[in-house]
Amino acid sequence: MSTHHDCLDDLDKNATKIMWKLAVPSKISIFSWRMFHNLLPTRFNLLMRGIDLDATCKLCREDVEDDTHIFWSCSCVTMVFADSCFSFLRQQHHKSCKGIIRNLISHGNVDMLQEYLVMCWRVWGMRNSFYQTGTAPDFSSVPNWCTKYIHQLKTTNQQRFTGFGQCLLVTKWKRPPHGFCKLNVGAGRGKCGKKMGFGAVLRDSNGSFIAARSWQQAGHVDKLLMEVNAILLGIKWLLEMQVKNVEIESDSLIVVRYLTGNDRLVSSLGHLVDVIRSLGASFTVILFKHVLRTGNRPAHHLAKLTAISSGGCFTWWQHPPPCIGHLLCTDNISVTRSRLNGSHI
Ligand SMILES: [Zn+2]
Repeated sequence: MSTHHDCLDDLDKNATKIMWKLAVPSKISIFSWRMFHNLLPTRFNLLMRGIDLDATCKLCREDVEDDTHIFWSCSCVTMVFADSCFSFLRQQHHKSCKGIIRNLISHGNVDMLQEYLVMCWRVWGMRNSFYQTGTAPDFSSVPNWCTKYIHQLKTTNQQRFTGFGQCLLVTKWKRPPHGFCKLNVGAGRGKCGKKMGFGAVLRDSNGSFIAARSWQQAGHVDKLLMEVNAILLGIKWLLEMQVKNVEIESDSLIVVRYLTGNDRLVSSLGHLVDVIRSLGASFTVILFKHVLRTGNRPAHHLAKLTAISSGGCFTWWQHPPPCIGHLLCTDNISVTRSRLNGSHI
């Protein structure tokens, strides 16, 4: 049983990675991620969140509108997915969009996955405008629209997305360019979930430690909000210190994509992103970067420890907190090694 769960866990981690690497704009990646985790405000999900409404799909009026309904089985949208390339999916009974995505990924067909996600994104947009305006959408136009859209993405944006794909490979901490500081930020939650910790570690272009700060807050919010909040706290601290040129690095790819994309989000997350962008205008140069957790250990560790500590906001100058000393050393060793390796080439 546990092996089966482990396999699904691996598949899901893999699915998330693949979805983020797809050559689609960040608004579609974000949508896909929310769909995969069943976080879209379908009528069923709204009902589950305690909103008093009739969860029946208003398009077909035949069934409850959950994610599988609107992105697969609703009689108004089935023609969208009627293409023969999806026919193998028809032979199975899918209980969730997650199941459909897992299925597409286990078939190893990334193009088909991309097509399915773009189609769902389009369907969701048309569904939303139907709920806003009451005008019946023409879903039969979706397949052609998607074909053109994907073709356009492939031809015009190839360069941009190829560039982005490379940043997924950043696994180690790297020194910022000369004249820049780098602030790594992280967020963590205590075991009982009642406290959140945030950590920020500032280093210069030699890789030397400048300062670190930790914050503790009561309560808990979802992981994305925590990660955005870590960046917000970090930026406010940088402004206090009057740092002008900075790279801010987080291990949350989704948050970095929010911040570097042009999409406007309507949510509490969107509001925080707007605040960060406006504070960003006070810097001469501010860059948001993603690094894998392996390259963000000191900030992450500081955040985790802060979440379970007795509390408060602390700042360390010149000498790092002992709890992260060894992790900072490891970062510097890996930096030195990669420089040495570089000099041999
Ligand atoms: Zn329906």
